[in-house]
Amino acid sequence: MNIKKVLTSLGIEPMNPGASTGTKWIKGGGAVIESYSPVDGQLIAKTEEVNDKTYNKIIEKAQSAFTEWRSWPAPKRGEIVRQMGDELRKNKEALGSLVSYEMGKSLQEGLGEVQEMIDICDFAVGLSRQLYGLTMHSERPNHRMYEQYHPLGIVGIISAFNFPVAVWSWNAALAWICGDVCVWKPSPKTPLTATACQNIITSVLKKNNVPEGVSCLVQGNASGPLMSSDARVALVSFTGSTPVGREVGKTVAGRFGKSILELGGNNAVIVSEHADLKMVLTGTVFGAVGTAGQRCTSTRRLIVHESQYDKTIAVLKKAYSQLKIGDPLDSNNHVGPLIDKMAVESYLNAIEKAKQEGGKVLVPGGVLSGKGYESGCYVKPCIIEAKNEYAIVQHETFAPILYVLKYTDIEEAIAMQNAVPQGLSSSIFTNNLREAELFLSAKGSDCGIANVNIGTSGAEIGGAFGGEKETGGGRESGSDAWKAYMRRQTNTINYGSQLPLAQGIKFDV
Ligand code: NAD
Repeated sequence: MNIKKVLTSLGIEPMNPGASTGTKWIKGGGAVIESYSPVDGQLIAKTEEVNDKTYNKIIEKAQSAFTEWRSWPAPKRGEIVRQMGDELRKNKEALGSLVSYEMGKSLQEGLGEVQEMIDICDFAVGLSRQLYGLTMHSERPNHRMYEQYHPLGIVGIISAFNFPVAVWSWNAALAWICGDVCVWKPSPKTPLTATACQNIITSVLKKNNVPEGVSCLVQGNASGPLMSSDARVALVSFTGSTPVGREVGKTVAGRFGKSILELGGNNAVIVSEHADLKMVLTGTVFGAVGTAGQRCTSTRRLIVHESQYDKTIAVLKKAYSQLKIGDPLDSNNHVGPLIDKMAVESYLNAIEKAKQEGGKVLVPGGVLSGKGYESGCYVKPCIIEAKNEYAIVQHETFAPILYVLKYTDIEEAIAMQNAVPQGLSSSIFTNNLREAELFLSAKGSDCGIANVNIGTSGAEIGGAFGGEKETGGGRESGSDAWKAYMRRQTNTINYGSQLPLAQGIKFDV
């Protein structure tokens, strides 16, 4: 990959303005943000944080765009999103490469992330003709009742570093066809991929005279808390860690705003005595080490039946010994870097804590140094035999650490899977129908995602995505997740000449 060519084709300058109203870039007015690649430690380019004054300018622009955009017919808004999907198709290679270089995930995963953006655009186009409400039969004669969905207004999208572009599209594509306008605050760890997205859709916004302010961008950290407390932002869709999400949730609820919270996970795979170990291997290793363990759905815990335990560990040890760690843009490598040195610190701390609590290291971790590892962000995926109740096992460490736990019967395995504060993704490998159905039943997994014979990560956009408990309860993407981006209204129409009251109440004047 020639990074200079990639940057040029995506319109990234050495210094980029921090705010945009769609087709117009504005100076952010805040501190400079330098974006370093975890791949080689090089400075990629700079942008600037948005200060309060610029934030307000952007919100005002978004507000005025909404007054026009909400009246565009939904299928017409869908047509805009269709064209955006086409622009993403044209730029898939370049954007996927930048995602890989700025965030550190493999090129395959970078391209996969852009494919998800294209898929959600396609989904949203169809949805733009299907924003269905219900009709009801009234108890009163000559009356008709129905409910309909209206746009909300400004949707603030606060996103995490690990899916630096897909999360925006999951929210924005749906919000736009619903008639909302978006203000995106990306992670300051991956600002340039966000700048690139805004550049990619500019031609569509211009060509179609889309009101300026429908797709806004604000870089840096400061706009996050501003959005949470800003009553002009009707919905805050937050993707990130549980501690930050807890604050955002409280602040938005305090002003009776709406929020979608997509927070941390602590995902487990159950390996039953009836599992096909070949399948377990692919599902688990990709789940635990893919994106260097920095997916919200990464496999963190492996709950193995005692009869399969020794065999599973042996197979995993062999697979881990063959993992190639290095430049994620080189397709021979399986594992790339962590996002930054702070993430490396928390990885090392977690291993120490697990050991202190009695964990037995089965595959040792460690930080790699030397040629190709100059960024200091490359670490070895590690496996630790642990107990579910260890404090560190209860906690999401965003790194390639897999805890293995042993069980005797399936009810015990399900109880262990559920006995963590988070509730995002879960899976069971089994060829036993009773076990599979129990796992998916009301007595089974308590997560937002429960899979059979596939791993915990790699969701498709067609399903609603999100999790329970400390994962926040939000749902994004497919199914009827669109309803969160609209306000529901119940309408009763009297086409008669009398005015009867509901419940038969008599009131004569
Ligand atoms: P983070 O919580 O550090 O940051 C997320 C976003 O919040 C960033 O844009 C950041 O600038 C912003 N932010 C920071 N402080 C804020 C505040 N006070 N108010 C408002 N916004 C604020 O998370 P991260 O390290 O970027 O991402 C990793 C985390 O995200 C993990 O916990 C992971 O599980 C989670 N995640 C969840 C999902 C999901 O769908 N459930 C998807 C991706 C990532």
